[in-house]
Amino acid sequence: MTTDTSLAEICTVKREDIPKTVTEELSDTERDELKSRVKQLLKEQNAVMVAHYYTDPDLQLIADATVGYVSDSLDMARFGNEAEADTLVVCGVKFMGETAKILNPEKRVLMPDLNADCSLDIGCPIKEFSEFCDQHPDRTVVVYANTSAAVKARSDWVVTSGSALDVINHLHAKGEKFIWAPDKYLGQYIQEQTGADMLLWQGACVVHEEFKAIELAELIKQHPDAKVLVHPESPASVIELADVVSSTTGIIKAAVELDAKEFIVATDKGIFHKMKEAAPDKIFIEAPTSGKSATCVSCAHCPWMAMNTLRKLVECLETGSGEILIDPELGKRARLPIQRLLDFAREQKQQSLLSGDA
Ligand code: SF4
Repeated sequence: MTTDTSLAEICTVKREDIPKTVTEELSDTERDELKSRVKQLLKEQNAVMVAHYYTDPDLQLIADATVGYVSDSLDMARFGNEAEADTLVVCGVKFMGETAKILNPEKRVLMPDLNADCSLDIGCPIKEFSEFCDQHPDRTVVVYANTSAAVKARSDWVVTSGSALDVINHLHAKGEKFIWAPDKYLGQYIQEQTGADMLLWQGACVVHEEFKAIELAELIKQHPDAKVLVHPESPASVIELADVVSSTTGIIKAAVELDAKEFIVATDKGIFHKMKEAAPDKIFIEAPTSGKSATCVSCAHCPWMAMNTLRKLVECLETGSGEILIDPELGKRARLPIQRLLDFAREQKQQSLLSGDA
């Protein structure tokens, strides 16, 4: 890995490697039977479900109706860590299951489909990433949660989109310089916001990369009173048009708190389920992923998140398939930078409570 071109090649997921988004076709009766079966199996096995906002609404409803949880990746990890259960069923993508296992080595962690990957994780292979880090030993290695256990183990800090700005600000104030991986758009955004010295890995999310600035500007003209909510994994040209740039949790919060009736939302459309639940009187419009400059791969829905289906959920609970296994030594090393984030987030929360900001 000697040039920028070769780095870009390593980071880019080939189109043919991106699965087609599948929708599970079920009758109402089948759906109800599967949901009941999941609830029964969760109870029998002392298992809890943690689901990401981008998964199918049926899965989110089951998690909410049982003692489970629906959230972003940081909160999923935190909840899994605190849950008193023998088994965690993680509905999301592989790095989320791995994070749950790293934090809970004594618990069984199941996923409906172990092929549910992430373009950011795929585009950051450990061998090349490790070589990159070795070339810059003076830099603090900060990686996004969307990475493999091995990449986490090579890092100093693991962050999420909701915590990245605070962590980099905190370390930048101490004079540290960074390697940031894998998402280049989120890295650029943080670099701009903090002024930190960051060397960026060149990965991208195939879902958020699809949002189109030209078409978004046209949509904003048609809805001049709408607030624009954008996830920072989106290209800079899209972020520039945002009223709020935030993590999934922050986007939902903004929809509830902002004094606007309409919102244009640039993130995976799976989030609309929770947004409508949280702010039922408001109107949510999908930001465009197609149009004049379109190359739509995913059309605002992650093809790997869509692999989490009701049938597969039942199957993993019935058969124990989809179990996440991590080498204990690797798990221990990967835990350190995640724990650093959890401790940092806890301290920040305490400080904001003390100062009355919360
Ligand atoms: S939406 Fe993007 S970042 Fe999230 S899991 Fe899918 S590919 Fe990865």
